[in-house]
Amino acid sequence: MTRRREPLVFAAARGLRTLPFLPLTDLPTRVERIARFGERVWIKRDDEVAELYGGNKIRRFELLLARALDEGARTLLTVGGLASTQVAATILFGRSLGLDVTAVLFDQPHTAFMRESLALDVRAGGRLVYGGGYARTVARYLEERRRAFRPFTILPGASSPLPNLGYVDALLELAGQVERGEMPRPDRIVVPAGSGGTVAGLTVGVSWLGWPTRVVGVRITDLVASNPLTLGALVHATARFVSRHGGPPREALTRARFEMDHRFLGEGYGYPTPEAERGAAAVGEVLGVPGEVTYSGKAWAALERKVAEHPRDVILFWSTLSSRGRTPDRTDPPPDTPSAICPLFAL
Ligand SMILES: *Cc1c(COP(=O)(O)O)cnc(C)c1O
Repeated sequence: MTRRREPLVFAAARGLRTLPFLPLTDLPTRVERIARFGERVWIKRDDEVAELYGGNKIRRFELLLARALDEGARTLLTVGGLASTQVAATILFGRSLGLDVTAVLFDQPHTAFMRESLALDVRAGGRLVYGGGYARTVARYLEERRRAFRPFTILPGASSPLPNLGYVDALLELAGQVERGEMPRPDRIVVPAGSGGTVAGLTVGVSWLGWPTRVVGVRITDLVASNPLTLGALVHATARFVSRHGGPPREALTRARFEMDHRFLGEGYGYPTPEAERGAAAVGEVLGVPGEVTYSGKAWAALERKVAEHPRDVILFWSTLSSRGRTPDRTDPPPDTPSAICPLFAL
């Protein structure tokens, strides 16, 4: 595996070559059969997408952080939950590029994964600001934005057309693996749906290839933030972006269908459910690091249900959690933890 000079999608729609690109990943990520389900269930190991940190934010960052550097940013400013993987990824990659990173954090249910993430954020050199509730988080963010030196903002999810290209590209990568016989073409792809950038990118990719594959977005947050309309709008915006940059007409990039599975959210974003706890344990076994209940645990619960409901389908579980750069044994507050963050480790 080597760092590539440009993504597959740039070669497929040449107008995209005008965009800045920053190689951060080691590709392709593996596809593997999940033995416990027999012959027809597979996993795409995006948890291993980069050495520093994996998961589904990194392919997007190759475009987003490239844009930040191109604009001369010196500070990355981001907002996320206490256990946000986007915050962790922003800090790790931002610091490795020599940028300052400030993250404003909103409350979410306290879990072991949250303590691990906070400890990782501090150790990696992020500046953490505790926002608490949503309103105060927004106020704090605006304050930080005024103060920051040449800031570039990455909002929760970062699911605009530019970063979404990362998952259009990921689907082209998968197509190569199918062509080489590494796995059969999937009938369904199961992936968590938060801000929806992953679902949108994959759906545009499936359309582009003309595959009959159905992308299943497992809803892990409130319906106002994540629903068929918001996801559909992202699919269209991403398709339009590709189309305008030399890709096929937009209609050819939006014909695939995605569906949402709403059954596994429980009380809300980040809240554990018994099914999500079991799912997190299963994900942990497959990835070899502790799972978590917010995203992958709920997506795994949906995977099990889909496997039962569609007994003949080839199903691909797209791994969105990181198995790299994790420090699950270091969940104590590091020495320089801000005083507003410290008490969160005790809960
Ligand atoms: C951010 C994240 C998601 C959500 O992805 P979206 O593209 O925002 O829908 C899913 N799983 C994990 C582990 C994540 O960190």
